[in-house]
Amino acid sequence: MPKGKDSSWVIDTVTSNISWIKSSRNYVRDGRSQLKPVTINLKALDENWSVQYREHKPATNKLTLSGDHSLSITTDSKDPFHSARQLQQWFHQRAKLSLLPWISSLAEERNLQFNRIYIKNQVSRWGSCSIKRNINLNRNLLFIPHHLVEYVLHHELTHLEHLDHSGRFWTAFTHVLPNCGELRRELREVELTDTPLWASPRLEKL
Ligand SMILES: [Zn+2]
Repeated sequence: MPKGKDSSWVIDTVTSNISWIKSSRNYVRDGRSQLKPVTINLKALDENWSVQYREHKPATNKLTLSGDHSLSITTDSKDPFHSARQLQQWFHQRAKLSLLPWISSLAEERNLQFNRIYIKNQVSRWGSCSIKRNINLNRNLLFIPHHLVEYVLHHELTHLEHLDHSGRFWTAFTHVLPNCGELRRELREVELTDTPLWASPRLEKL
């Protein structure tokens, strides 16, 4: 207590800050529950996963698939990020297993050849294409609707024909996806920062 203040000062301070204290506490709680989601909606694949947590000592890295679209993972009371890291590994695999065949079949339809596809966990972009014909795809694409993922995949494939965003690029792109302008605007509304906390790229470094 500061000098010259009595217990009524404490009461006044707490009372006047009570909503701030409550909201900070909820913020921490909310953050913790975001690290342990009980459902995961992969809009791109139209899949809803349920997640069960079990305390296990010592905590293992065993994530098990039980039944259709349900995951069971262990928690570690000493490490709040333990289960999120396991979910990230599962999610990365899920992205690989779904995005690779997806883009490959679109490329085949368009008779385009790429070199390699890399699945990344990125904060700032959905995809990119290099001069070496390598395509990077953000695994968080799984969180956005199917038709917007299709937009991103076709966008990157069109870069195999035109590396820049020139008029020729947009002509070729419109030829494949006539409503690409509309989809582009729709994609802009989707924020990459909306990625759930457990899937955040920043967590991987913890
Ligand atoms: Zn582009």
